[in-house]
Amino acid sequence: MEPLLEVDGLEVEFRTRDGVARVLSGVSWHVGAGETLAILGESGSGKSVTAHAILGILDTPPAFVTGGAVRFRGENLLTAKEERRREVRGAGIAMVFQDALSALNPVFTVGFQIAEQLRTRRGLSKREARARAVELLDMVHIPNPRQRLDQYPHEFSGGMRQRAMIAMSLALDPEVLIADEPTTALDVTVQAQIMDLLDEMRRERDMGLVLITHDLGVVAEVADRIAVMYAGRIVEESDVYSLYRRPSHPYSEALLESVPRLDFKGKRLNSISGLPPSLLNVPPGCPFHPRCPRAEDVCSDQRPELARLDGGQYSACHFAEEVVRGG
Ligand code: SF4
Ligand code: MG
Repeated sequence: MEPLLEVDGLEVEFRTRDGVARVLSGVSWHVGAGETLAILGESGSGKSVTAHAILGILDTPPAFVTGGAVRFRGENLLTAKEERRREVRGAGIAMVFQDALSALNPVFTVGFQIAEQLRTRRGLSKREARARAVELLDMVHIPNPRQRLDQYPHEFSGGMRQRAMIAMSLALDPEVLIADEPTTALDVTVQAQIMDLLDEMRRERDMGLVLITHDLGVVAEVADRIAVMYAGRIVEESDVYSLYRRPSHPYSEALLESVPRLDFKGKRLNSISGLPPSLLNVPPGCPFHPRCPRAEDVCSDQRPELARLDGGQYSACHFAEEVVRGG
């Protein structure tokens, strides 16, 4: 499958008063049409930064892309003109944010915000845009879309607001949708509904879907592949089934143990001890070694590269084959 969106060796630095933080170090992944990639990691691992770099919306602290490429249908967006990047944002690659309340403008009705995009970017008339906005709200299963159109974001419940946000992100028919912690602010039942909706939209539109999350449980049922991030790097990439059955990196093992699982009934939930490293001061060797229960001398010395294992999983661990075998 030819990738729609390909991140290739992406490097990003934050230049802060306290020094240079390497927030992304050689991050690579791709997503194809109709495919769902989950990007999993603790906060601060570089998940959102990757999304922002893709869309060219890196913000404060002063952030710089220092290497790599972001290819959309083969075109490197990092070297494209700003005008072209603006074109791609929304219409090629769109994004859904965690907090719909702050992503939507509180002073305009939901309908206006959806219609405005269609008028400015698709040249639709006011009437056409409004009619299309009704269709979009209906598509994301918001009841009474015609009435809902004239309400303000604060009049929507959290789940309905996230649906409206998804409708808005789909207004320009993007080929890739990136959802950054789309359900974190919602309660558990609503979380599942929003995941189902994203999955349905992906299927119906044959979109590439990138789900950014810190919660493996939320994405397990909808993702095809999972890329696990730690300290600005991908440490494992596997199909969902393999990751669940036989993770190939000790960090993935630890993440799995911290998720409630039906087949682990009764087992105490472990959380991973220690904190992720400061990106101003990443430990030498394997960045996970201070927290890793399997660490040996070589781990604090030599940085493991992401490498393909026989079974097709990718792991950045000196002992990946042993980890996979459950040794
Ligand atoms: Fe743990 Fe060493 Fe593997 Fe890093 S390389 S994950 S420290 S065993
Ligand atoms: Mg984030």
